[in-house]
Amino acid sequence: MSRFIRKDLLGLTPYSPGQQPEEEMIKLNTNENPYPPSPKAADAIQKISTDDLRLYWDPEASEAKNAIADHYHIESSRVMVTNGSDEALAFAFHAFGEKICFPEITYSFYKVFAGAAGSHAFTFPLKKDMTIDIKDYKGYPATVILANPNAPTGKALCREQIREIVLSDPDRLVIIDEAYVDFGAESCIPLVKKHDNIMVIQTMSKSRSLAAMRIGFAVGSREIIADMNKIKYSFNPYSMGPFAAAAAKAAMEDEEYFRKTTTEIIKTRELAAAGLRDLGFEVVPSKTNFLLVSGGREYFEKLKERKILTRYWEEDLLRNWVRISIGTPEQMEKLLEATKEIICEKVK
Ligand SMILES: *Cc1c(COP(=O)(O)O)cnc(C)c1O
Repeated sequence: MSRFIRKDLLGLTPYSPGQQPEEEMIKLNTNENPYPPSPKAADAIQKISTDDLRLYWDPEASEAKNAIADHYHIESSRVMVTNGSDEALAFAFHAFGEKICFPEITYSFYKVFAGAAGSHAFTFPLKKDMTIDIKDYKGYPATVILANPNAPTGKALCREQIREIVLSDPDRLVIIDEAYVDFGAESCIPLVKKHDNIMVIQTMSKSRSLAAMRIGFAVGSREIIADMNKIKYSFNPYSMGPFAAAAAKAAMEDEEYFRKTTTEIIKTRELAAAGLRDLGFEVVPSKTNFLLVSGGREYFEKLKERKILTRYWEEDLLRNWVRISIGTPEQMEKLLEATKEIICEKVK
């Protein structure tokens, strides 16, 4: 740290992203999609003329925005495309996060966004079964942000439960981060059409295999999206380029590929969960492309020795768990084999 940094940022601990290993490993640590993006997205990127890169690009990424709006049958003035959903979340904390609350166990970036935006942040514990207790959020006088499904638990609230939180105070904003919604949970985008105090944020990094392309989007009332744009145009208007916009449009329109790959991941998840339970592990029921599995540091380390990288948090509430992203069926088979070896080694 230099002596020049703003005093109010001295205490800020930045987000620590999952490791990108240098050696060959089975990478099940950052919830990436094991399948490549839609071939149509690849084609769309190829078609971009590099001559055009000298130009500033459409700051609204309109082609992507319109494809998303069409997909969800919502006016495009209610959609904003961002450089990854992390950018949408950062804008949301700046725009609406003067006071903001979220679960004690959730996407660890929320407390960082709160720190960077100077938000007053409050957290609520999860219930014993790791679900979010909607009672805590009903009527609580602060903006609410919930990852639904939640991370790293993998558990989801249903739309009706979120509607209850939204209805409990129409003058308070509820933000729903649906990074994993496509793996089996209910989206709240239909609620956005009926209520003006909810914003939904999604990403193409997980279910549409475009993590490196950095595409996220927010859906809300016209006024909420205008506020989000006010922040964007106060930071970095041209945050999306033509590659991301073209890939986003093509990926959004390739419904068949999207269904095929997400269905495959859900199937693999259920098989992996059953396999791990058979081996005596506790596995939290998941609506995402990852599993929270008992085992803690020892299991994490032993998997790593066997070149399988998962995610472990040295924190009170999570130290007995390991988060395992869903890979291909072959990768998950290797995970189960390695797990059996680890168990047998212990017995010897
Ligand atoms: C992965 C993830 C994001 C961020 O996704 P990007 O679009 O890649 O920035 C946001 N929220 C949650 C809960 C996530 O897991």
